[in-house]
Amino acid sequence: MHAVEDTIVAVATPAGRGGVAMARLSGPAAHRIALALAGRIRPLAARRATRARLGGLDVADDALLTYFPSPASYTGEDVVEISTHGSPVVMAAVLAGATARGARSARAGEFTLRAFLNGKLDLVQAEAVQALVDAVSPAQARQAVGHLEGALSAALARVGTRIRELHLRLEASIDFPEEGYHFIDGAAAAIAVRELRAEVATLVDGANQARPVHDGFVVVVAGAPNVGKSSVFNALVGGERAIVTPIAGTTRDLVSEHVLLGDAHLRLVDTAGVRRALDAVEQEGVRRATGAAATADLVLVVLDRSRPLDDDDREVLDATAKQARLVVANKGDLPPAWSEHEHGAMTTVSALTGRGIGDLAGELAARATPPEDPLVVNERQRARLRDALDHLDHACAAMDAAGGAVAEEFLAADLVRAQQALDELTGTRAADDVLAEIFARFCIGK
Ligand code: GDP
Repeated sequence: MHAVEDTIVAVATPAGRGGVAMARLSGPAAHRIALALAGRIRPLAARRATRARLGGLDVADDALLTYFPSPASYTGEDVVEISTHGSPVVMAAVLAGATARGARSARAGEFTLRAFLNGKLDLVQAEAVQALVDAVSPAQARQAVGHLEGALSAALARVGTRIRELHLRLEASIDFPEEGYHFIDGAAAAIAVRELRAEVATLVDGANQARPVHDGFVVVVAGAPNVGKSSVFNALVGGERAIVTPIAGTTRDLVSEHVLLGDAHLRLVDTAGVRRALDAVEQEGVRRATGAAATADLVLVVLDRSRPLDDDDREVLDATAKQARLVVANKGDLPPAWSEHEHGAMTTVSALTGRGIGDLAGELAARATPPEDPLVVNERQRARLRDALDHLDHACAAMDAAGGAVAEEFLAADLVRAQQALDELTGTRAADDVLAEIFARFCIGK
């Protein structure tokens, strides 16, 4: 086990007032410090809440102390959780009392870092802890819980085992060529490498599906000036976030809003009217709008049904034709200039009266929800997986070029590099600065 000398303390519950607040102590002196705070000599029972008065503090609140002896605790060290009434003053007194008796204030993510160093979780699971805390939608929370339970870790372990086995057999063939036989023949090695490649490629594909769940499904609202983009955006968001004006081209900047629709977490982006820009400021807005539309998961094209289509509308329709998009006909409260579902419109809405907005929201939520919960979620994980895939691709390309007669040394080298990328992903082999960066994103007390 990773030995850490000092004992850390932090409030684990959110800042502010509430029914209950909880501080957590972790480290070799956790139990001793907790007893001192409670003015108690008798040891605390393991994994049971013990009622005590915090007599050793400035504010002597009643508390529940729960002692988790090492190694059966969150961090793997001795841990004591101290629950009091949810008063910031009491919590401050607990922290002051604990530090006065030798504990140190925990840094962001330090409890989970210790859990990682003690082998309680791998890096993917540690990241899932924070992802769960940060989750906005049920889909995000489900994904995080899946990771915490080790869904991705198990998949990676399977791939890792196969890479190691194949590598060992290749190495044996390299080391004992004089034995006159190969531990694995070229054809079998080629099949095994291609199978591994396919397995990693599946995980990478899953990562591409997972990003919208993890970061929010990006919907860019596009359309000619004055069709009602900002109004549709506001109707979906349910507030007056984007500035609505009757003058064409006033939405000069990008306005983005996180929206929870059903299970899905959407990031709605309003754009400046995509139009031959008139001035520099608007040009900048249009440039950003075009960029945003290109990276969107879905473009919501808004048309104005109360007037015939013009060149601006056609330009937007042409520019988005190859993208995932949804076309809506707005201003359905006015006399229509064309019939419904013309120009690819899915539905007619009225941002003004709210007609059809509910259906539109339902359709957006459906588009944002992936068919199944993907395994790989964040950019770091995706990057390391892609590294592993690159090395396996390299091996496959070498086999293709050599018609199957690649030297075992080359295949073995690619396998080692692929394995290293996976080890970085799970944290089996992670540089200190990578760890520091990951855990710095955590909140204090986690
Ligand atoms: P944008 O430039 O595309 O963002 O358009 P805005 O949302 O600023 O709206 C332009 C004008 O159309 C404003 O005067 C809105 O009040 C009006 N408008 C927007 N949606 C509707 C609608 O559904 N019905 C009617 N009658 N007017 C609308």
